[in-house]
Amino acid sequence: MIPLDGLTGENIFSKGHGYTYDDFILLPGFIDFAVEDAVLETNLTRNISLKSPLSSSPMDTVTESRMAIAMALLGGIGFIHYNNTIQEQANEVRKVKRFKNGFITDPIVLSPNHRIADIDRIKRQQGYSGIPITEDGSLGSKLVGIVTNRDIDFVQDRDTLLSEVMTTHLITAQEGVSLEEANRILQESKKGKLPIVDKQFRMVTLISRTDLLKNRDYPLASKGIDKRLLVGAALSTRPEDRDRLEALVKEGLNVVVIDSSQGNSTYQIDMINHIKYHYPQLEVIAGNIVTAAQAKNLIDAGADGLRIGMGAGSICTTQKVMAVGRPQATAVFQTAQYAKDFGVPVIADGGIANIGHIIKALSLGASAVMMGGMLAGTEEAPGEYFYKDGVRLKKYRGMGSVEAMNEGGAKRYFADKEKIKVAQGVSGSVVDKGSLLSYVPYLLQGLRQGFQDIGTRNIRELHAALYNGDLRFELRTHAAQAEGDVHHLYSYEMEMV
Ligand code: 5GP
Repeated sequence: MIPLDGLTGENIFSKGHGYTYDDFILLPGFIDFAVEDAVLETNLTRNISLKSPLSSSPMDTVTESRMAIAMALLGGIGFIHYNNTIQEQANEVRKVKRFKNGFITDPIVLSPNHRIADIDRIKRQQGYSGIPITEDGSLGSKLVGIVTNRDIDFVQDRDTLLSEVMTTHLITAQEGVSLEEANRILQESKKGKLPIVDKQFRMVTLISRTDLLKNRDYPLASKGIDKRLLVGAALSTRPEDRDRLEALVKEGLNVVVIDSSQGNSTYQIDMINHIKYHYPQLEVIAGNIVTAAQAKNLIDAGADGLRIGMGAGSICTTQKVMAVGRPQATAVFQTAQYAKDFGVPVIADGGIANIGHIIKALSLGASAVMMGGMLAGTEEAPGEYFYKDGVRLKKYRGMGSVEAMNEGGAKRYFADKEKIKVAQGVSGSVVDKGSLLSYVPYLLQGLRQGFQDIGTRNIRELHAALYNGDLRFELRTHAAQAEGDVHHLYSYEMEMV
C-alpha cells in the first residue's frame, strides 16, 4: 500500500470554497521517465488535436494572423478577434490559411508609378527594402521589376518614379517551387529577394534572404488534412454575426469560439444550432462558463469544446462589477469533471500568469489553456512597443474595457445597443517578452519538467490520475504561498516565469 498524503481533487473542490491556482499545490509523484519523454499532445475540441495545449485569446491586443501563425507553428492555435469588420477578420484568417513556412504570402509591392519616397517610407516603418514592382502595384498582377537599396541609394531626387530606377532583369522562381529549391536559387543568385510568379508572370509570393537564415522546421505545427495551419476565430451570439461566420468559413476556418462572458444563454444555444446545421464540419467552442449546469446546456446544444472562466482574466473586472463568476481552479475542476463523460474537452481561459498555472489547469481536467496577458507582450501580438520608465511595453486591454467596447468589443457583454456602457475590463500594458518563437518552446519545456515531477507522461495519464485519486493536491495558506514565491532576498531578477 502506498501511503497517500494530501487530498484528491474531489476532496478539495467539493467543500464549497472557491479556489484559484495559487491556493493549492500538487504533490510530487515518482519519476521513471526523462523530461523529453513527456508528451503534451491534447484535444482542443472533440475533433481537433494539438501537439501543445496552448491557445491565444481572441482579443485585439493578442491575436491577429501573426500570432495565430506562430501559435500554430509551435503546436497550439490562435483565435482571431472580431473587434473589426467582417472583411478584416476574414483577411486575418486567410493569411493564416495561406501561410507557407519560409514564403512571405502578403509582401508589400508597389507599382512603377510609385516614387523612391514611398520606398523610404516603407523602409522606415517596416525596416526592409527590396520591393517587387508589379504592373498595378498589387500582389497578383504582372511582375515588372524590383527595387533594392542599390538602385536608389545615390539618387538625389526622392520623387523619381520607380519605373526609372527599378531593375528589370529579374531572377524568379515558378509557383509550386519547394522551399528547398527556392532557397538554393536565392543563394546562387546572391540576391536579397526571390519573387515567386505564376505561368503568366504574375507575382504570387516572395522569399527573402534574411528569412532564409531564420527558417527552421516546426515539427509540432498544427495542421489540418489539407496541410494548412489550423486557425480559430471568435464571433458573438448576435444574429448579424452569422454573416461574419459565413465569410470566415469561406476562408477555411477550422474552429469557432462563441465569445460571450456568460455563455449559458438562449442566444448562444441558437448560435450553436445555427452553426451545427449550416457548417457541420466546423468545430464549435462554446462559453464562457464556470458551472456544470452551464456546461450541460452547451453540451446538449452540441458544443465540441468548452471555454471556462468568468472574471479570472488579468484585465477583467467582471467579478467586481457583476458580482458573478467563479474562482478559476474550482471552475475548471467542476466543468471538466462534468464534460469528460461526454468527451467534450475544456479550455481553461484567463488567469494564467506562469507555467505553474498551466500545469495546474491541466491537472484539474483542462485539456488546454487560453492566454491573453501571457502572450500580449510578444512580438507577434498586434501593436507597437513603447517605453515607460525605461521599460519596453506593449498595450494589453480587456475586450470589455471602455476603450475596446467603443471599438466594438461590447458584443461580448450584451451592451452594444445600450447607451450606458458598464466596463468589465481595464486597459493597461505588459512587458516585452520577445518572440513567441522562443517563448512558447520555453513554456513547453517547463510543462514537460512539471509533468516529470508529478510523475505523469502525458495529459491523458494526468487526467486519469486526477479522477482515480492518485493525483494529490494540498491547499496552501497565505504563508505557504509566500514561502513558495521568492522571499527574503534583498533584490533579484526574474526574466520569465
Ligand atoms: P488573461 O490570460 O489575460 O488572464 O485573460 C484573458 C481572458 O480574459 C480572455 O481570453 C477572455 O476570456 C477574458 N477577457 C478578455 N477581455 C476581458 C474583459 O474586458 N473583461 C473580462 N471580464 N474578461 C475579459
